[in-house]
Amino acid sequence: MTAQLIDGKARAAALRAEIAEKTRGAARAPGLAVVLIGDDPASAVYVRSKERATEQAGMRSFAHRLPTATTQADLLALIAALNINDAVDGILVQLPLPAHIDESAVLRAVDPSKDVDGFHPISAGLLATGQAGFVPCTPLGCLMLLKETRGDLSGLDALVIGRSNIVGKPMAQLLLREHCTVTIAHSRTPDLPDRARRADIIVAAVGRSNFVRGNWVKPGATIIDVGINRVIGADGASKLVGDVAFDEALPHAVAITPVPGGVGPMTIAVLLHNTLLAYQRRNGS
Ligand code: NAD
Repeated sequence: MTAQLIDGKARAAALRAEIAEKTRGAARAPGLAVVLIGDDPASAVYVRSKERATEQAGMRSFAHRLPTATTQADLLALIAALNINDAVDGILVQLPLPAHIDESAVLRAVDPSKDVDGFHPISAGLLATGQAGFVPCTPLGCLMLLKETRGDLSGLDALVIGRSNIVGKPMAQLLLREHCTVTIAHSRTPDLPDRARRADIIVAAVGRSNFVRGNWVKPGATIIDVGINRVIGADGASKLVGDVAFDEALPHAVAITPVPGGVGPMTIAVLLHNTLLAYQRRNGS
């Protein structure tokens, strides 16, 4: 058996085309505001690609690039202004923030009806209680890939490795909502290989290359590899890999997301999906 590759790039392109089509029919262009503090190069790249994708979808992009020395009060004032700006449907504050800013205070300041990143405690609470809100983009993208690949997930045994607020916890909530039996593993979990061998679905969100080994994978399991790790390949060149020892897992899994080209492209597509949803909810459409 060789696993089917789950093509996140193609799925994301299809989702973005669907969103652009719906945006064309909207009374006004949905707007996404992205706030970037400081000059972290990786964050700058993410923000640029979010802006580009927003415009390609026919939406308005409002980018706010502020210096590292920006005070928390100034950032909160900007968020308050975006909250009452009717042209702005979604607000995203690029993380991580500089150390002098309280991240949770900033996330709480975003109007929950514009919380397209799904990081506000109200969004987390709505997800945990099975109500309509905004779901964080990366785990929702993972769920879309899983459902397209496996169909009904009901009754499956799912292992989520990682318990961050951004990926692991919301992923576990989504799988629970799909009626999976969910285990959340983290840095203190004993017997991880044995737990993995029982799982029909493994979602790896750890941030360590070659973390999930081939002999952890139950025959026929589906693997979603969220990890993004930069390593030096055998040829001396730097490349991106996931958390799963990909070549080892291929003969055991039924389907697996590659890195790059799996989960990554879905994250921005789902951000656009959430922005359109915010626009529709705010306009009662
Ligand atoms: P994080 O550092 O916040 O969380 C990592 C989690 O891994 C923690 O909950 C920790 O308990 C767990 N962990 C660490 N060591 C472990 C061990 N030995 N055994 C079991 N669990 C262990 O990271 P995050 O923000 O959740 O991101 C995880 C990975 O996903 C990173 O590589 C990140 O770059 C990537 N990521 C990708 C996307 C995307 O769009 N593809 C989006 C977000 C994050």
